[in-house]
Amino acid sequence: MTYRLTPKIIYPIGNFKKIISGFWDKNSYDGEAWGTHLGVDIAAEAGTKIFSIGRGVVVYSKLHPGESTPDGKIAQRNWGGLVIIAHKEPKTKKIFYSVYGHLGKRYVKKGDLVEMGEFLGSVGGSLTESNGLWEREHLHFAIYEGPFHEKSLPGYHKRETNLTKLEYWRDPIKFIESYNKKFN
Ligand SMILES: [Zn+2]
Repeated sequence: MTYRLTPKIIYPIGNFKKIISGFWDKNSYDGEAWGTHLGVDIAAEAGTKIFSIGRGVVVYSKLHPGESTPDGKIAQRNWGGLVIIAHKEPKTKKIFYSVYGHLGKRYVKKGDLVEMGEFLGSVGGSLTESNGLWEREHLHFAIYEGPFHEKSLPGYHKRETNLTKLEYWRDPIKFIESYNKKFN
């Protein structure tokens, strides 16, 4: 794996004011508890362009399988079209990942080297497979600093599933702000 240093990072989307679900929120949908939200949801119309927050390498670009229902039907309310990029901090050399969910179109593939601000894809339309069959059109954006395994990266943390650990996840907004202060 060719990890690449990124001296700076930016927001993945132009308008960051419309956060509809914050980091660490306890989410429920249709009365069902979804657990702890491991990122932020940013309301954005279908087709809104999404950009890489920094220089890095694409480690995942496909439809996220999510959790299948017992009858084997298509997984609902998952991450849909998902891109994950690995980045390296310039001083600590620590690897971290930026996660972009519910993308209708993806223009990068696994192994691609990307630059900060590179066009990755666009937000998917509501109730499509690529937006994870959610009613609202939005970007799910998260920062992960744990070991990378595709299966351990759900959008929510449920203690009973033991798939991921809360300590691996960062508040993405605070992360971007402090990163640029720390390394510049
Ligand atoms: Zn989300």
